Formats: sequence, structure tokens, C-alpha cells
Amino acid sequence: MARRTIVAGNWKLNKTTDETRQLVRELRNKLAGLDSAALVVVCPPMTSLETAVDAASETGIAVGAQNVHWESSGAFTGEVSREMLEAIGVEYVLIGHSERRTLFGETDGDVNLKLLSVLRGALTPIVCLGEVLEQREAGETEAVVRGQVRAALADVAPDHVPRLVVAYEPVWAIGTGKTATSEMANDVHRLIRGTIADMFGGAAADGVSILYGGSVKPENADSLMAESDIDGVLVGGASLEAESFAAIVRAAP
Ligand code: PEP
Repeated sequence: MARRTIVAGNWKLNKTTDETRQLVRELRNKLAGLDSAALVVVCPPMTSLETAVDAASETGIAVGAQNVHWESSGAFTGEVSREMLEAIGVEYVLIGHSERRTLFGETDGDVNLKLLSVLRGALTPIVCLGEVLEQREAGETEAVVRGQVRAALADVAPDHVPRLVVAYEPVWAIGTGKTATSEMANDVHRLIRGTIADMFGGAAADGVSILYGGSVKPENADSLMAESDIDGVLVGGASLEAESFAAIVRAAP
């Protein structure tokens, strides 16, 4: 299966419903007529998901959530399930973003439970992982990333692998203005693909889209996406303005 090029925007804790409608409309206008194979995804906060789905209908822009719980229903205050997201037209979901891991205590085990739950339904999971600065400086990037991939993807059924999307986000590059060089990022993407190949075979790994995230801007998006194993980008700050996000979409091959 051919890899999909994906440009996804993670809005984090930003945008009211009115601001969401406006940003999606601006994006639609800026992307109208663009002949690109890239799939464009916006991930607003939970309160704006329905508004985004409505504003994005028939635009080709898909909507993703920033989080999901692995249970379908029950006494889990503050959580939402994949069934709830699917019911309002959400198509993608971020799992294991570094802010979920570091600020909200999400573990590799939680990430795995979320992924297995999502794969039982129809959402496309974007599994986020990456090393922190101390790990990179200690030369541990390879071991950390390999371990995260193995833990996140444990027990995934082989026929679900083509639906997986992975986002490599070195934590030291998120929101800091520091970007991994394209070559550095591509090396880790190859490592991720190699780990998936060890788990599920080379053909399956070849079909998995692996996105890069961490201070992606219009200025660096094209060189990142020109790398052999970088199949798109996950964008934080620069996805909050239609102009910069659209410029990143235009940079996709
Ligand atoms: C992110 O939060 O996934 C991200 C990559 O943020 P930024 O682009 O702002 O570094």
C-alpha cells in the first residue's frame, strides 16, 4: 500500500468554536484549487471538533482529535471514547503526544491501550513519540525511540498496520524553534520504519506514513518532506494561522 502524505495541525489548547469556524474557512479558501496529494488534517480542542467537522465538510480537510480514552463508556470523568469521536465525523486522533506524556502522565502502556482501542474502530491513529533532550544528549535516542515504537505497537494485528500513522517528534524541538535537521529526522524515521519492519515485516512497514513534528514552519517544511522516509508533518504553532499552515501544505510533494 502506498504511503500517504499527511499534513496535520495540532491546535492544542487554542481556538474557540467561532475561531475554529473562521480558521477552517480561511484554510479552505487558501487551499481551494490546490492540486496536492497531501491529506490535510486539523486537530482542534474537543469543544471545537463538531464545528470543525461542519466547517470542513466538502473541503477535503479532515478533522482529528487530540486525545481519546480506550474505554467505550463508563466512569471515566473528563474522557471521550473513539465511538463518540466517530459519531461526530472525526476521522483522525493523536495518541501519546509528548504533552500528554509529560504533563498528564500518559505512559507507553496507555498509548498502547488507546491505539488498540482506536484500531477496533474507524479512526486513523497518529501515534506520537520522540526522545527528550537529555536522552538525545546521552546518545539514547535510538534505544528510546525503538522502545516507544515496540511498546506502542505491541499486540497490533498485522492487518491493522496499514492504518497506522506515526509522528516522530523530538521533544526538544516542540515549540522551541529548534528543528532537527532533515537528515537527523530522516535517520530516526528510518529507525522507526526498521523497528516496524522487525515487528510486522518490511512490506507492512513500507506502507506506514511517518510524520515529523517539532517547530515545522513554511521555511523548513519542504526540505523535511523531501526526505525519503518523511511522509508529512505534524505542525503545532504554525497551524494556528491559515497562511502559515497553507504554506506548509503547499510544500508537500
Ligand atoms: C506539536 O505540538 O506536535 C508540535 C510539533 O508543535 P510545534 O510545531 O509548535 O513545535
